[in-house]
Amino acid sequence: ESFDDFPLSKRTKDGLKKANYNKPTEIQRESIGIALKGYDLLGAAKTGSGKTLAFLIPILETLYSSKWSKLDGLGVLVISPTRELAYQTFEVLKKIGRFHDFSAGLVIGGKDLKTESKIINQTNIIICTPGRLLQHMDETVGFSCDNLKILVLDEADRILDLGFAETMNAIIENLPQSRQTMLFSATQTKSIKDLARLSLKNPTYVSV
Ligand code: AMP
Repeated sequence: ESFDDFPLSKRTKDGLKKANYNKPTEIQRESIGIALKGYDLLGAAKTGSGKTLAFLIPILETLYSSKWSKLDGLGVLVISPTRELAYQTFEVLKKIGRFHDFSAGLVIGGKDLKTESKIINQTNIIICTPGRLLQHMDETVGFSCDNLKILVLDEADRILDLGFAETMNAIIENLPQSRQTMLFSATQTKSIKDLARLSLKNPTYVSV
């Protein structure tokens, strides 16, 4: 089975080919169809399973099929535990999304808040770390998540291990209910279940 057999746009298929991704991994096979239907997803998957493409492919397809334009503002938030993971995800997004038309930005600190604010207010897909995102929600004038379509919590167990449980609660409270949410975690602890209950609606559980 190859990505060509999936109901994906030619742009996405071409991007995958160009980046040398041909055969989906198990988590990708299990998740992409569900995510494309718009369902919330709880993915039990470790680093190395291919979970990044499991959420990036549906993100690209959803923005494309809903004719999201560069001027439509923020449509997708990906929350990563660390700057390094956010950066890696951003690089993969640029590679597989090269034939799509969107803007994406990293919000991970390291630049001053004002500089980052300018990026934020004109970006369709933001890949961020939790503390910095909440800071923008609180302080950046004009920052709006009102039209958010997709939220991804990547390596959610690591996010909680790093002490961001309260931060995540505050972020989720600020987001519109009408979104689709995908949560990925290698472990399924009590605190992950709490976060899942707070962030997901009738999720489909996918375990690899
Ligand atoms: P991830 O779990 O998303 O961090 O991916 C782990 C590694 O697998 C990364 O180096 C990816 O580039 C690679 N990878 C992910 N999906 C595929 C695929 N469908 N075919 C080949 N390699 C992949």
